[in-house]
This record gives sequence, structure tokens and C-alpha cells, in this order.
Amino acid sequence: MLKTPAYAAQSAQSPLAPFTIERREPGPQDVLIDILYCGVCHSDIHQVRDEWGGAVFPMVPGHEIIGSVAQVGSAVTKWRLGDTVGIGCFVDSCRECEACHAGEEQFCEKGTSFTYNSREQDGKTPTYGGYSTRITVDESYVLRIPSGIPLDRAAPLLCAGITTYSPLRHYGVRAGDQVAVVGLGGLGHMGVKLAKAMGAQVTVLSHSPNKRDDALNLGADAFVATRDAAAFTEYAGRFHFILDTVSALHDYNAYLNLLRRDGTMVLVGMPEPTLLAAAPLIMRRRRLAGSLIGGIRETQEMLDFCAEHDVAADVEVIPIEQINAAYERMLRSDVKYRFVIDIQRL
Ligand code: NAP
Ligand code: ZN
Ligand code: ZN
Repeated sequence: MLKTPAYAAQSAQSPLAPFTIERREPGPQDVLIDILYCGVCHSDIHQVRDEWGGAVFPMVPGHEIIGSVAQVGSAVTKWRLGDTVGIGCFVDSCRECEACHAGEEQFCEKGTSFTYNSREQDGKTPTYGGYSTRITVDESYVLRIPSGIPLDRAAPLLCAGITTYSPLRHYGVRAGDQVAVVGLGGLGHMGVKLAKAMGAQVTVLSHSPNKRDDALNLGADAFVATRDAAAFTEYAGRFHFILDTVSALHDYNAYLNLLRRDGTMVLVGMPEPTLLAAAPLIMRRRRLAGSLIGGIRETQEMLDFCAEHDVAADVEVIPIEQINAAYERMLRSDVKYRFVIDIQRL
């Protein structure tokens, strides 16, 4: 076993603090990756605080991992020493079910092995994420980071990027479509950049009026402050597609009314449950859907799309000692627009 420095939470009430984990020695199909950067996702907060239930402690969060290949197993064919690679939200799956065969490993019917707060395919061994100096992963669950994307700015693509790219693609958003992105955080700012790169007309709906200039600088065509109730009348029936990235409780019904006939709203933010009314869906045959990250193939497609279209995250790079303060700032919607931990300083 490889002793590995990390940051962990010991319970839902405790802050993150230094901790040592053990990584497995690379088997024939494995690569050992020295971690360079790890993005900080709001899901890290939900999970360390056990807001979704069933949390596994001690927990080492982090699923936006950029690193360098440090060792390869004897049967590895895809990777060489020194390759710059990424690990996203999962590290394994059964490889046999319908979802795995379809390349949608995030929906594995046997149970996806998520990067942390989860179990390996043996159903026992806990997984630990990227707030640590290295990780051992099967070569098939590793992504290639195209040259040209700065590595700190590439890290958030592994979750925030794919989570927003996948529904835009799945629902066929096209050039000229009216797209709204609700919530300008880590996911939201990637949603704006990706929807723009696909040629859509993008409007940001935000509960933080002070984000107007940033939204426009990120490429949005319009900004709507949702604290002003009149906005919901003015923009009623406007959008083909709404991507809702909000991490806190809010009224979905109000946003559904902003869709035009046959429009689709996709939830990617995952706050606590709330009530849904039938009428806003019925009245214009609107659709409400959810989406979970994306499979390995689509994540690679997204990374290559970002390299081609010069898309990367806007980041604040922090030393890991600031992680607890960073969580507090994220809860106040105060981050431009993703924290990324410089793991080389751990
Ligand atoms: P984030 O950076 O904290 O951004 C969330 C944004 O939500 C904030 O910037 C804020 O935008 C808005 N918001 C926060 N509190 C609000 C409130 N009380 N009322 C209205 N809006 C509020 O979080 P993130 O990392 O982007 O993650 C967002 C959500 O997506 C989380 O729930 C996370 O768990 C989930 N997630 C889902 C997936 C998936 O696969 N489905 C993947 C990753 C993350 P404004 O200031 O502009 O209003
Ligand atoms: Zn995430
Ligand atoms: Zn499977």
C-alpha cells in the first residue's frame, strides 16, 4: 500500500484536516497518478456535510483531478509515464450492464464507483478523492487532457464542464437557441461558456445582482436578476432550454414558466426536495429533466471540444489549508468561479 497525504473530514460535523490514506499499488491495468490540481465542487460540501445521506467517513473529497502519470501497470496500453491526465467523478463501474455498454458509466446498474464517498467494485473498499497527493485508477477511467488548456483551469472541466456539456448535447441545443443558465457558480459559468461555444443565445438568471458584469464578460448575452419578481413576467415563455445549476432550495415552478412551448428545463443542481406543480409543465407541453455528469467517452469529447473552442474554467487557486474557508465562501456564492486546490503544495 502507498501511504498518501490527504485532507479528510472525520464526520459530517468536522472540518477538513490533514489525514493519511493508503492507495493500492498499481495492478496490471492501473495507473498511479501524481495529483497536481483538484477543483472544489459544491457536491464536495453536500457530501462532507452528509446532506444527501449515507456518507462514508473518513471522507476525502475531490473529483476534478488533474495529474501526471507516475507509474503504469504491466498491461496498460493507453498511458505512458508523464502523460497529463484527468480523473472525474467516478473511477470504476461494472462494464457489463446496459448503461456501461452504452458508455454511460455514471448510471451503472450494479453501482458506479464514484471517486469518493463510495466503494470500489468489490463493494467494500472505500474510495478517496483528489484532496490527496496521488491516486491509483484503472486505465479505462482516465481522461486525456489536451495540450493548450492551462492545467489549473482544466480541473473543473472534469465535473462542472461535463455536467453542463452533457445535457446541452443530449437535448440538442443548437446555434441560435435561447438558453438560460440559472445560478452563476462553478457549473453555471461553465454552462455559459459551453452554450456560447455551441452558438446559443445565453441569458444568466442569478440571485446575485452584482454578478451582472461578470456574466457578460463570461460571454452571456443577457443577465437577469431574479430577486426582481418582475423578471418572471418579462421573460415568461422565452427560453428553449434552461439549465438549473442552483445548489439551494428554490421554486422550480417559477422557472418552468420561462420555457417556451416544448421547452426543456434540466436540473443539475441538487438541493433538498421541494414541491412541483403540474400546471407549468402541462400548459406548454414543457419538459423537466435531470442529468448526472457524463460517461468517459462524452467527457473526453467535452475536453477536446474545450481545447478546440478555447474554453476553460475561471479559477481561484488556493492552498489546501484554505479549504474550509473556501467552502464558507462558496456557500455565500462568493467564488470566481471555481476554487482549485494546488495539490503540489500539500
Ligand atoms: P456553486 O459554485 O456553489 O454555485 C451554485 C450557484 O447557485 C451559486 O453561485 C448561486 O448563483 C446559486 N445559488 C446559491 N444559493 C442560492 C440561493 N439561495 N438561491 C438562488 N440561487 C442560489 O455550486 P456548483 O459547484 O456549481 O454546484 C451546483 C449544484 O450542482 C450543487 O447542488 C451540486 O451538488 C450540483 N452538481 C450536480 C452535478 C450533476 O451531475 N448533476 C454535478 C456537479 C454538481 P447566483 O449567485 O448566480 O444566484
Ligand atoms: Zn462535482
Ligand atoms: Zn455497469
